[in-house]
Amino acid sequence: MRLSALSVDLDSLPHYCRIQGLPESLLDERARSVVATKAIPRLLELFAQHGAPATFFVIGADVATDGMAQALKASHAAGVELASHSHSHDYALSRLPQAQIEADLLRCEEALSTVGVKPLGFRAPGYTLSAPLLAAVAARGYEYDSSTFPATPYYLAKGAVMGALSLLGRPSRAILDSPRVLLAPRTPYRPSLRAPYSRGEAALIELPMAVAPLTGLPFIGTFATSAPWLLVEAAFRSLRRDALFNFELHAIDVLDQSDGIPTELVRQQRDLQVSARVKLARLGKLFAWLGADRDRVTVLEAARRLRPLV
Ligand SMILES: [Zn+2]
Repeated sequence: MRLSALSVDLDSLPHYCRIQGLPESLLDERARSVVATKAIPRLLELFAQHGAPATFFVIGADVATDGMAQALKASHAAGVELASHSHSHDYALSRLPQAQIEADLLRCEEALSTVGVKPLGFRAPGYTLSAPLLAAVAARGYEYDSSTFPATPYYLAKGAVMGALSLLGRPSRAILDSPRVLLAPRTPYRPSLRAPYSRGEAALIELPMAVAPLTGLPFIGTFATSAPWLLVEAAFRSLRRDALFNFELHAIDVLDQSDGIPTELVRQQRDLQVSARVKLARLGKLFAWLGADRDRVTVLEAARRLRPLV
């Protein structure tokens, strides 16, 4: 049995300003609501075209923003799984004490309950886990976590960008994970609650995001939509033996500058320079390939099928 799960982190543009060290005042009303008004409808259309089940990781604090509750209700009605991407999307969530982490998780659950959903899966902001964070996720009864991202080139690039922004006097709000993540399993595993990037006895399952073997190339939306296509094809092929292809996208993977995104942000976030039309065409091709040789499921369904096997 080989599975593929497609998920989209619905990070809105203010979160990108925080990573890039840019002021959120750059964003007008249209830019602030572009995930709800443009990205989600485009994604739902793409999923419908390909008959592809999908999961949205929702930031609790964004649920109350313009148009978001309505867009999430439409997604839920279309069969999309809604899971938690934390309430505050605080990049330092993993470094907070467990009580504060639990309060954040609870607030996201309350926000999702306003659209009629109880989340059963979690993805950490900035893909960064810690023992208190995973323990809180497990204690709140989530069936899975999908945050582990053992991608060496990504890790090195993130460190370099954070260093450069700090030299420019525009420190990023992102944090760099422990290098231990680079030794984490690349395929689904039962984590240790004391060391989330190691195997252990937790009741929940950890579903790492797709990272190509050997090269450590991160097979996520940014890569799939903007890397040279031959490299995308090669990385895709290198993942063919994995029991799960856990393909993670972001809402901005279906947006571009013409959607009203400020030039300053587009200059920094270079995948926004690729047109949404081109990105949607690439994603469509990949969804079709995944459907050709795998059972496509939500991340929750992947967790339920794989948990007895790991
Ligand atoms: Zn995020």
